Amino acid sequence: MPEKEYIHLTYAIRNEEERSKELIRAYVNLLNKGIKYVFSKVNVKNGRVELPKKKEIYKELRDLMKENAQGLAKHYVDQAIHDVYSILDSWRRRFEKGRSKFKPPLVRKGYVRVKTTLRKVLGKSVRITVKPHEYITYSWDRRWFSSRVEGMELTEPVIKEDKVYLVFRKESPTTTPPETVAFDSNLYSLDGYDGEKFITISLKQLYSLKYVMQMKRAKVQSVASRKLKGGKKLMRRYSHRERNRVNDLVHKLANFILELYNNHVLVFERLNKESMFDDASESLSRKLSRTVWRKLVVVLKYKAPLYGCRVVEVNPHLTSRSCPRCGWVSRTVGRTFRCGRCGFTLDRQFNASLNIMRRFLHKFNLRMWRFPHRKVSGVIPLMGVRRMNGSIRDFGELQGSRIEYKVHEIQ
Ligand SMILES: [Zn+2]
Repeated sequence: MPEKEYIHLTYAIRNEEERSKELIRAYVNLLNKGIKYVFSKVNVKNGRVELPKKKEIYKELRDLMKENAQGLAKHYVDQAIHDVYSILDSWRRRFEKGRSKFKPPLVRKGYVRVKTTLRKVLGKSVRITVKPHEYITYSWDRRWFSSRVEGMELTEPVIKEDKVYLVFRKESPTTTPPETVAFDSNLYSLDGYDGEKFITISLKQLYSLKYVMQMKRAKVQSVASRKLKGGKKLMRRYSHRERNRVNDLVHKLANFILELYNNHVLVFERLNKESMFDDASESLSRKLSRTVWRKLVVVLKYKAPLYGCRVVEVNPHLTSRSCPRCGWVSRTVGRTFRCGRCGFTLDRQFNASLNIMRRFLHKFNLRMWRFPHRKVSGVIPLMGVRRMNGSIRDFGELQGSRIEYKVHEIQ
């Protein structure tokens, strides 16, 4: 069985606690002290950075941090050590790529992730320990989201100067949800199979919006670079508008999918198809479409719990080249998939969606509903339909159960 999965919901409330600012300041100071210390132990060999092993310097580091903790509860010290290492680790990556200088990264804007040992949930509020016997409390009683998080567990709140982020979670049901829909992400469309029919959602509009904006952006950029003053401002205003319009469409699209398939599991390919895009032929359009998919999945994941949905990503390996019926793998990729063993024939993108669905169901040891799968080269009709003369009508049969949507028609 797959491991426990959680549904997370995050809400921000305004931070009106003056004392939290003190906490953030003290914590940032602590981080910077720790970073300086660990940085002094860093070795560089052939352009590679070696951070000192945590356990080798742990005791000294912890003592130093404790001295500088300004009375903060001792659990903050442990959290700070953890943060120091992750900050230095991302600095190391930037440095090795030549994007950072060789000097200790300085934390300016602070945030504190409050470990569970430092917070206590009391009804619809959380009490956070700052120093021994000194607390701050944040409440979500009568907030707009308070009914949404009822029965959910508060995890680690994140305190920033202006806002506090409350992260709630609940276990997502481990029983197999009854309905599943799988999507193949393509350059201009999402092509899905929901167990009964195929569905195509055109991404052309989203894609061309993004494309046009990219072009305009380049223009604005060149103008902005000529205007020294105000150029940055122009660029920022433009980027802002671009983001808004794309976001708007992505949200519309996400809402549409979630409404159409509420209480479903939505299966996508894991979208970091980096290897697929790594080759020299990477074009702008592919880059753009990738960013559109990513954004869509992020938004879907975020909104899914509100519709009783779950978003799952599966490995995309060979999904467009395998036969969903007998498992045969084709060497070539054309517009239409044709199985060399059992003769199964279907549009390549729909075929991929079948395989994505299968890959997900496989995790639960399930077979596809109305879609018997056999590892042998027997021919099994789809949906149990077999013609009198014994030939199979896969093509028309499946293509016929196809529905198309365009984003601009989605209201
Ligand atoms: Zn086959």
